[in-house]
Amino acid sequence: MLIDNHNRVINYVRLAVTDRCNLRCNYCMPEEGITFAKRDHLMSIDEMKRLADILVNKGVDKIRITGGEPFVRKDLMKLLEYLSGLEGLREISITTNATLIGPHIDRLEELGIHSINVSMDAIRPETFARITRRDHFKTVRENLMRLIDSKMEVRVNFLVLEGQNLDDIYPMMDFQRQYPVRVRFMEEMPFNGGSRDFINLKWNHKKILEHIKSRYPEFEKLPAPLTSTSVNYKIEGHKGSFGIIPSFSRTFCGSCNRLRVTATGDVITCLYGKPVTNLRTLLRSGLEDAYVEEAIVQAVGSRVRDGFEAQEQFGPIFGSSMTSIGG
Ligand code: SAM
Ligand code: SF4
Repeated sequence: MLIDNHNRVINYVRLAVTDRCNLRCNYCMPEEGITFAKRDHLMSIDEMKRLADILVNKGVDKIRITGGEPFVRKDLMKLLEYLSGLEGLREISITTNATLIGPHIDRLEELGIHSINVSMDAIRPETFARITRRDHFKTVRENLMRLIDSKMEVRVNFLVLEGQNLDDIYPMMDFQRQYPVRVRFMEEMPFNGGSRDFINLKWNHKKILEHIKSRYPEFEKLPAPLTSTSVNYKIEGHKGSFGIIPSFSRTFCGSCNRLRVTATGDVITCLYGKPVTNLRTLLRSGLEDAYVEEAIVQAVGSRVRDGFEAQEQFGPIFGSSMTSIGG
């Protein structure tokens, strides 16, 4: 089992399979993109399979596939086929922009993929196009509806962006009233791959909730596991539910059970920190699994307590983009 130096069990890994993406969401990447990793610096599917074996052996029972956009990686399904047969792995989930998932939905369902998080920060085509700088709304909406009809659990991640999509919040609430989907409103974080000033967040979790309350005053808080990053609510008569993720306020760090591995094999033990070791180089070095395992144990054994301590220790993280980190 992986236990960190603050006695937290680490059983959840977010594995980025690429840093490339077919969208250019303006809160994540500059229009021209970022300096993407060299192709041979991205882990191969075989390296990721080996890494998954090592992690599951150490007690990891949940892996979330993320990116960049996971489905721009043509060989992604090979990894998912492998993971779905891995004993001990209780939950496989994917975070995606849902532009390219269409041809794979049936197979994902057959493989028993547990949940799909669709990042969709707008429910109106014009807002969507403005934020993502691409015209894929129709495809995303169609794929989202197919996912909702599948056996997989579907969540919509909606980043609240001041001056950009506030008018889409109530229509998104309306969406969860009509369909059995969990919509999670998220605070923006300063990972945009650029140098946009970001010190104070106006639309924090309290303000988002107040805004929703002024339209829907009655809701009940749903029970959630201690490790949940979202606080979830249900409105009577609504088919879905909604939640808020205080990603920038970081109220959930105390129970953090996660580790991030980037597409190039960097290990990030706190979203607000910096990579602490690189597993790709170890996986390619010819060393046995035990050495890779030891590097992971060491990384987990020297984690910061929370995102604030990480920011103090590692300095500003404003230049990084979520497409490299994996969200
Ligand atoms: N491309 C996939 C997607 O968009 O779902 C997966 C990768 S994306 C980097 C993962 C998550 O990071 C998305 O839900 C996105 O909203 C979130 N994200 C990206 N930049 C962010 C930022 N500056 N603040 C908060 N969340 C961000
Ligand atoms: Fe791509 Fe996801 Fe970043 Fe949008 S948030 S640019 S879809 S990686």
